[in-house]
Amino acid sequence: MDFQLNSKTQAQCSIHFFSKKGNKFHFCSCASPMAKSDIQKAKAKTDDKVSFGEVFFYRLPSGDSHQLLVGTGEGGNLSAEQLRQLTGFIYKRLQAEKVTSASLSLAAVPMKDKAHAVQALTEGFEMSAYRFETFKAKPMDYDLKLNFNTNATNAKLKKSMEEGKIVAEGVNLTRWLGDCPGNFMTPTQLAEEAKKSAKGTKMKVTVWDKARIAKEKMDSLIGVSNGSAEEPRFIIMEYKGAAASKKPICFVGKGLTFDCGGISIKPSAGMEEMKFDMCGGGAVIGAMATIARLKLKVNAIAFVPASENMPGPAANKPGDIRKARNGKSIEINNTDAEGRLILADALCYASEKKPAWIVDAATLTGAMVIALGNTHTGFYTRDNKMRDTMNKAADDCGEWVWQMPLTDYHTKDMVGFYADLTNLAPNRQAGSATAAAFLESFVEKGIPWVHCDVAGTAWHAGNRLEYAPKKGASGAMVRTFVQLAKNHK
Ligand SMILES: [Zn+2]
Repeated sequence: MDFQLNSKTQAQCSIHFFSKKGNKFHFCSCASPMAKSDIQKAKAKTDDKVSFGEVFFYRLPSGDSHQLLVGTGEGGNLSAEQLRQLTGFIYKRLQAEKVTSASLSLAAVPMKDKAHAVQALTEGFEMSAYRFETFKAKPMDYDLKLNFNTNATNAKLKKSMEEGKIVAEGVNLTRWLGDCPGNFMTPTQLAEEAKKSAKGTKMKVTVWDKARIAKEKMDSLIGVSNGSAEEPRFIIMEYKGAAASKKPICFVGKGLTFDCGGISIKPSAGMEEMKFDMCGGGAVIGAMATIARLKLKVNAIAFVPASENMPGPAANKPGDIRKARNGKSIEINNTDAEGRLILADALCYASEKKPAWIVDAATLTGAMVIALGNTHTGFYTRDNKMRDTMNKAADDCGEWVWQMPLTDYHTKDMVGFYADLTNLAPNRQAGSATAAAFLESFVEKGIPWVHCDVAGTAWHAGNRLEYAPKKGASGAMVRTFVQLAKNHK
């Protein structure tokens, strides 16, 4: 999409807001009298309420621009996230009506902080415009130009608009990485995409191949990759935006590019969705690219262990024992609990960099999908300051997170019988908490750490997020991770 800030721009359609409290309608002053009276008449007949996101579209005689009116419920000021949600309703209708240029009066937007509103609207529209068509012979021929109509064009508004576009492009990159099929988005390809994402920025991307990963004593990652014809990769992203003396913040993301479960093979129904098992890694790559493009004043590093989980002849067998980089041995009692195995080595390596904190993201457990569905990303930490930091970042950018409990009882469940640790708790209770407890064994004590389980939120979120595709990767947590970097002092 193309965005502009301009006082006079001709567009095919103008966008307006309306609401109704009690019997009183409110329309933004720029809406056409014809549209206003028509909506009033239509609603008066049934004494209907105005729903949030309901859309009326009027095709006016040639010469006049068409009118799109979107309902905001009872009116009043909206939050930034409500604005993002509205863009989804608006974009879908404009697309259906084949409108290719639209304008929106900034004065009419029901939010006081106009710079924040511009950023939220730009983010929302750009995210709404995402389509996955890479493998289609004839991609849809549709693009929208949007002008924010304002006389108060200034540097602050322009910066907000540019920032909104960059953030949304980071989300869309993460979606694209997730939507690509496993036969294309292999660990090797994911590493290539991480490199591409750094182009034109100050970010450095280093990629380790299988031989280097083995040399680095990442036997837990090697074990998972052994079942596949595809080699693993260990992706390192480094961005320096602050003084060298400042400790880096650190992200770790699970880059499991296809997960059939390995020898503990999954049922075939829905297995095609296991291409999404790299969405945690995808979120980390998208967030790092965004942090670098925004030139945030922070040092940030990221690690994405990338592998397939397949049942080839050299695959991990149930009962096998592997040793992670920090020397801890792990008995593999279910080869489908592989995400934690590849993350173990990455968390050890991340700890050695002595970062200010580590935040990891992984589509880790089905238990998380049962617990929180696709509304909230569940996160685990024992550090109350990090809990507050996470909650604030998510709140600032409009994503939903929920802290889950992590206790010594969960840690006990992951003690191994034949090795130091088991990768699967002996019972099915609190499966996402025991997974978090397992990961904690690989984070050096004293480093604040948060684990985000995005198994529920990383894909198919269109039923609750109007700006996300109905089916496919959602780009969850990219905005929160970028916000974490922005908020970091
Ligand atoms: Zn698995």
